[in-house]
Amino acid sequence: MVQISPSLPPAAWRMILRGLIRRCPHCGARGAFFTSWFRTQDTCRGCDLVWQRNTDGFMLGALAINFIVTGSSLIFTFAIGVVASYPDIAIFPVLISTVAVTLIVGIFGYPISYTTWLAIDLMMRPLEPGEQANTSKQQ
Ligand SMILES: [Zn+2]
Repeated sequence: MVQISPSLPPAAWRMILRGLIRRCPHCGARGAFFTSWFRTQDTCRGCDLVWQRNTDGFMLGALAINFIVTGSSLIFTFAIGVVASYPDIAIFPVLISTVAVTLIVGIFGYPISYTTWLAIDLMMRPLEPGEQANTSKQQ
């Protein structure tokens, strides 16, 4: 096991990558904050990092990421459907595929948006001494 100094946080790209694959951005523990796809626990099971870092409005950043990604996929899917079937636009297949992609991205991207936002939050506000994670458990 590699010991990482608490004074040296993981590189930004590593934290983002860990967040994008639904791992703890700080320690990289798999499924760190999740008891199921949508249910979270208060701390990371790998490093005891507090999930919402004791700040009000933490969820707004994660919701914004989920909204932007879901909205982008909606626009992208709709545009591809319109361009692919132009000039006789197949409105119902385009709408059905757009709704399906939007639901899939929105629902399955929900926990990923939280771990990604936690990575961004850790980059903007590094851990303070009072909230240091348990580094002895880091992977
Ligand atoms: Zn962790």
